[in-house]
Amino acid sequence: MAGLRAVGTTLPIFGALFALVPASPSSAQPAPELIAVTPAVGLTAAPEPVESPSRSIGSPDRGRVRDAVELTSTAHLVVREGPRGARFGTAELVGLLHRAAARVATEHPGPRLLAGDLSAENGGRLRPHRSHRNGRDADVSFYLVDEAGQPIEAPRFVNLRRNGCGRIGEQRYCFDATRNWALAVALLADPVARVQYLLVTSYLRNRLLAEGERQGAPAELLERVRLATANHAGSRSHRSHFHVRIYCALDDRPECVDEPPYHAWYEGTPSPGAAAAVQRRARTNRAIRRRAARRAR
Ligand SMILES: [Zn+2]
Repeated sequence: MAGLRAVGTTLPIFGALFALVPASPSSAQPAPELIAVTPAVGLTAAPEPVESPSRSIGSPDRGRVRDAVELTSTAHLVVREGPRGARFGTAELVGLLHRAAARVATEHPGPRLLAGDLSAENGGRLRPHRSHRNGRDADVSFYLVDEAGQPIEAPRFVNLRRNGCGRIGEQRYCFDATRNWALAVALLADPVARVQYLLVTSYLRNRLLAEGERQGAPAELLERVRLATANHAGSRSHRSHFHVRIYCALDDRPECVDEPPYHAWYEGTPSPGAAAAVQRRARTNRAIRRRAARRAR
């Protein structure tokens, strides 16, 4: 990956300013000047130390995590009760969720952010997920409003339909565009963790982007949210929550393996194992398609 330059490891905020775009021919790469957007959206959280004891190893669908941090509930974030104990992530991911939830609560006070699965304490296979194996994936509920438009906390994830609403029993819940936009911005402007993507189904993504436009968000910020929420394998099924994936922390590489896309805000150099991981993934996908084709015959 010639053309990528490692950035300073001591000043994460400024890392975002000076990161270079990979010299790849991919037309999906945004212009380098987009990188300067991060400070403009108003970073308020104090940066955490870049060196963290947690280690994300391998790729999200074939990896594990060491010295993971447990996500715990706070005044702004509630961890869903579940039997699987999948509440562990890298220090960067857990810090990201706490910072983002706190920032949304400051800007738009209301119910807490509901977090679902992260990874198991040591990572590895976590059914029913294909990824969530190395502490860099988290499922978080959308913020919701009730029929009167008042923010409301749901006891679990709620599937939302094309009209932006869904139900648990008699209670109706709808997509809270204002707070979900604030969440997307908080995640993508984080001073420490670098978000690779937010999986969300296209009709809810449209509501999110429309809210950014309605608020007159800077074009660069809109573009960043557009790129991070662009259609990706698995986006369609995300009708009740965002799936947040972060890139490998600089101090976890090269054992931690990032796969494309490498957005303009990607810091440093992808691990040497990245190309092999992508090829392996392509082989697996081809095998899955072949099996499906054989069954269809
Ligand atoms: Zn997920």
